[in-house]
Amino acid sequence: MSGASLKVIYHDLYLTDYPTASCETPSRVESIMRVLGKDYPILEPSPADEEDILLVHTPSILESVKREPDLYSAALMAAGGAVMAAELACEGQVSFAAVRPPGHHASPDGHWGFCFFNNVAISLEKLIYNGKIAQALVLDIDLHFGDGTDRFFAGRKDVEVANIQDNHREAFLRNVDRALSSHEYDIIAISAGFDRHVHDWGGTLTTDDYFTFGRSVRDFAADRCEGRCYAVLEGGYNIDVLGENALALCRGLEPTP
Ligand SMILES: [Zn+2]
Repeated sequence: MSGASLKVIYHDLYLTDYPTASCETPSRVESIMRVLGKDYPILEPSPADEEDILLVHTPSILESVKREPDLYSAALMAAGGAVMAAELACEGQVSFAAVRPPGHHASPDGHWGFCFFNNVAISLEKLIYNGKIAQALVLDIDLHFGDGTDRFFAGRKDVEVANIQDNHREAFLRNVDRALSSHEYDIIAISAGFDRHVHDWGGTLTTDDYFTFGRSVRDFAADRCEGRCYAVLEGGYNIDVLGENALALCRGLEPTP
């Protein structure tokens, strides 16, 4: 097993066929795990608690998701996967959480775009609430603007949200470096959407670019925040390339032995 220093967080509940858009299928995570499962150890998370969800969302959002029991179980486990990734990162362990449903379009009092609970926002807010970190950066590389995360952390001095939105690959990678160089952080959370790939909806990034991106984050984190970084799956809809793209990101993020 190569790359054993990176962990993959996965639970069978991520394969739940809950009511959502037809493109956001269980086969997305299946295709990722078919590739990552060969190379990395897999850790099983616990579901997030209601109190974790309520760190970010209103009670009415919690109650509305609860009305779909299959969706609710998967969504709690997705948030729990992100929480586990964030806590591992604090202990110096890099991980990729291969969760469904995604989260970055879920804001405190609303959700759309196949998202229900904001996994990344919940994971960071829990670290801050527990006093484990003081400054964080969210790097969102999904094709779509992560409006939910942006809205939740708007006006906050402790969490910066950088949505990298360029449609040219060189500019995209340059802006990643710019986002990384600007401040000091205790941890970096990646909203890892792969729908900007050349063979996905965005038609922009190559598989190698996900490696380059991951390596930039890894090097910055090693330099500035004791290697504390983690990635949580957001979008990515072409299951023929999704696994290889996730693998490229994981390879980039792997800590130096
Ligand atoms: Zn997207």
